[in-house]
Amino acid sequence: MGERNGKRKMNSPVEAIKSEKRMLLLKYLEENHSRYETLFSCNEDGIFVLDIEGHVVQSNPAFQQLTGYSHAETDKLRLQFLFPIDHINKVFHHFSNAVVGRFSNFDTKIITNIGQILDLNITFIPISEDDQIVGVRAVGKDITELKRKKEEIRKIEEMQRVLTDNILDVIVSTNLQGEIVYVSPSCEYILGFEQNEIIKENLLSFVHPEDVEKAYQSRKMVLDSQESGQECYRIRKKSGEYLWVESLCKPIIAHDTLHVLEIVSVIRDVTERKKGEEEAKRREETYRDLVEYSPDAVIIAKDSEILFINDTGARLFGAEDKKDILNKSIGEIIHPDFHEIAREREIMVMEGNITEFIEYKLLRLDGTPFVAEVKGIPTFYQNTPARHIIIRDVTERKKTHELLLNSEKLNVAGQLAAGIAHEVRNPLTAIKGFLQLMESEGEGNKSYFDIIESEMDRIELILSELLVLAKPHELKFGPIDLISLLENVKTLIDTQAVINGIRIETKYNYQNFTINSDKNQLKQVFINILKNAVEAMPQGGFISIEVKQYGCNMVKIFFKDTGFGMSPEILKRVGEPFFTTKEDGTGLGIMISKQIIENHGGTINIWSDEQGTMIEVILPIASERLH
Ligand code: ADP
Ligand code: MG
Repeated sequence: MGERNGKRKMNSPVEAIKSEKRMLLLKYLEENHSRYETLFSCNEDGIFVLDIEGHVVQSNPAFQQLTGYSHAETDKLRLQFLFPIDHINKVFHHFSNAVVGRFSNFDTKIITNIGQILDLNITFIPISEDDQIVGVRAVGKDITELKRKKEEIRKIEEMQRVLTDNILDVIVSTNLQGEIVYVSPSCEYILGFEQNEIIKENLLSFVHPEDVEKAYQSRKMVLDSQESGQECYRIRKKSGEYLWVESLCKPIIAHDTLHVLEIVSVIRDVTERKKGEEEAKRREETYRDLVEYSPDAVIIAKDSEILFINDTGARLFGAEDKKDILNKSIGEIIHPDFHEIAREREIMVMEGNITEFIEYKLLRLDGTPFVAEVKGIPTFYQNTPARHIIIRDVTERKKTHELLLNSEKLNVAGQLAAGIAHEVRNPLTAIKGFLQLMESEGEGNKSYFDIIESEMDRIELILSELLVLAKPHELKFGPIDLISLLENVKTLIDTQAVINGIRIETKYNYQNFTINSDKNQLKQVFINILKNAVEAMPQGGFISIEVKQYGCNMVKIFFKDTGFGMSPEILKRVGEPFFTTKEDGTGLGIMISKQIIENHGGTINIWSDEQGTMIEVILPIASERLH
């Protein structure tokens, strides 16, 4: 405090000089008043005059409007009241320069009477009178709006720079000749070329030879129509690799002549998307194959439209040509009594649920009704949600059921026959022995002996087959390796197959299926099946044996042959005891095989037509293997 007071005292001669200067300033203003009045009061910029101590001694209306102070108020203002604290240093720095005679111009901020902050550009002009600086004239330009605009432009420029520098698209501008006049920096990242490497080159020279025509035509379209265009093509990278790109071209049109000046293309790398599309296509094809070859009838539908039907389905509905059914709506192949339930279940599937098999009455193309079980599964077809409908013909199953009942009856008959066989076998052996004895002694007619002998052999064959049935209580069940058993049987049959010009192929997906079984019985089944196949191909052919896991605890063995097959009438009767179409057949093979497989908890199914026969044996896998 004391120091300050001291200073003040010491400064008092200075005070005197200051007030003298103020007097000179006021004199100056007065003298020049008329000369500058108009310029001063009508100026758009805020003008104020300061004495060398920073007191405002005069201000124009623009300044009063800018700051909000009245004329009277400005007279009491001092420089430091007009600026925010953080700008005062800067303002005083410039002010002190002005006081020693230097012009200065700077940007700062000013506070209005209500505390609002404005951007201002200030010029300090020293005022001299009698060869000394007596005051400072300040001209303040409101640059708030200017600054705002500048900032906006800067932001836009920055945004543009960020956009063109960093986006993963390449922006290329080409002139009418197709030469590149601009390319965004992203071309280095995406195509490997530096900007200046491709400027002036023709854009089409980077396009894959197979796509050049397409790219050229698309460009031509843009030029001719003056409208934007889009095209996909491959473009060469510096490394020589090609990228799939999507190019969006926009013409830049001169607003006076309305001619196209340049074409700006936004080129986007779509290689990943293309790959994805190809993958989706491949997946769809796989799905299609799966459906196409499904043994069940399958329809793919969207709303009431039938988008797809497989061969089994077309056959089931009696369609000669798939188109006949694809032209129908779902409603036309369902009996009216079932429209409502079908509609309800359709909604469930579209909501993402699977509907279980239930019986529907369906209509064939000729209008005849049939009963089938129908199940719906939500799916995607050609990228849109659709319904995968499985249709199972129950007529077939009902028939199988009848057959099963039938075989039950046969079973009893078979067992009876087996019992008899056992009883007959012993006396037969004795008779055979005596017959041989008589033959060796040369009594009787030789040809009679031959006939008797061959007939006896036949009886023996029948008996031995029947006896397989008679032995169930002597069966020895144990773990059997299915594949090696099949291989074993294959070796047995091979010689006969080779003689007949038959090739046997095996397809085992999984090498280790253990079946709990009586080895000899199972062997018998496979021999019966393979023998029949060989016998069905007197001109040679092809047998395939395929083993596949079925569910988690079953195995399916398929035997397919390319033999003459069976007519529906024969197929119906196969498995009846003594039913045979062969001159020297016993008609017991299939019956016995069925019996054995059923004893193993399995089933046999047979399909046959003039192309050949397929026999499916389903067996449970031994439970020890599952744990
Ligand atoms: P068998 O072979 O002694 O005639 P099966 O019970 O083994 O007796 O066969 C019964 C009938 O079934 C055969 O006579 C034949 O008509 C028919 N069959 C069986 N398997 C086939 C096959 N793979 N191809 C054609 N027909 C077959
Ligand atoms: Mg047979």
